[in-house]
Amino acid sequence: MEPASPVEIVRDERLGGVTLMLKRDDLIDPEITGNKWRKLRHNLGELRTGTLLTFGGAYSGHIRAVAAAGRRLGLATIGVIRGEEHLPLNPSLGYARACGMWLTYLDRTTYRAKHTPEVIALLRRRFGDFDLLPEGGSNAAAVRGCAELPGEITESFDVVCCPVGTGGTLAGIAAGLGPGQRALGFAVLKGAGFLAAEVARLQTEAYGTAPANWELDLDFHFGGYARVPPELDGFARDFEARHGLPVERVYVAKMLYGLYARAAGFAPGTRIVAVITGRPSIPAAPCADPADPAGLDTGSGSDGSR
Ligand SMILES: *Cc1c(COP(=O)(O)O)cnc(C)c1O
Repeated sequence: MEPASPVEIVRDERLGGVTLMLKRDDLIDPEITGNKWRKLRHNLGELRTGTLLTFGGAYSGHIRAVAAAGRRLGLATIGVIRGEEHLPLNPSLGYARACGMWLTYLDRTTYRAKHTPEVIALLRRRFGDFDLLPEGGSNAAAVRGCAELPGEITESFDVVCCPVGTGGTLAGIAAGLGPGQRALGFAVLKGAGFLAAEVARLQTEAYGTAPANWELDLDFHFGGYARVPPELDGFARDFEARHGLPVERVYVAKMLYGLYARAAGFAPGTRIVAVITGRPSIPAAPCADPADPAGLDTGSGSDGSR
């Protein structure tokens, strides 16, 4: 299969004997970047209805990606947002709205129960029939999309690293590895120990088994989701200056920081691929004109190649 994104080698003496490569998933598509593109690909090919409903926080990249994909493919999209409406909309929700997404809000208590039959029934009474994507887009089809990543890497490698939010990306990458290869995920949430069971659950949902070829590192959350203390920001700025990569702070910076911190712990000669899952900025609204240059799977008999 034609790779969805290129691999670049990083030369850096601070990594000791480790070879670092970047899988530039941030370059996949200007609007549906990185792992969001991989997670949506197959989901969009399996829709029953013309309406896609999903969940997310007020800054969710998944919400933006679904909105952009809906506009491009001519689907109605509904974003169920955690918490109260704040006007004017922040740039993330403003972008989703400009793509045509209908925004609705759930108070935090109801939002916590969002995946229960009661709340889903309530949403169906209000919006009629729809296809539902879970928060963050992590389901079996998303795992299968992310499992395509390792097979695109033609260089030899031992470890693939990625940041972890809901765990779908790590679950898929690990499932797509060959014998002897491992995946290492860096959790960006504080107290994310529950995610190990979630990764295994997602793999079982997608493939019926959960291999033991991955690890979840919980030590580099830097205080919690979207927290960017000066030490992390300084590291990211330095990395940008030395390697010319725009470093997204919420996810990518924490993975890279953790990887550098752990570099000495790898056997010399270890070859590591870090997945650059996204880019720092929110695209300017409105979205591009409807068209499908990204090759998203629309179920039209595509073989999955671009
Ligand atoms: C959403 C996102 C993630 C998290 O992916 P999960 O599959 O939810 O673990 C990682 N990196 C970036 C840049 C993201 O936007």
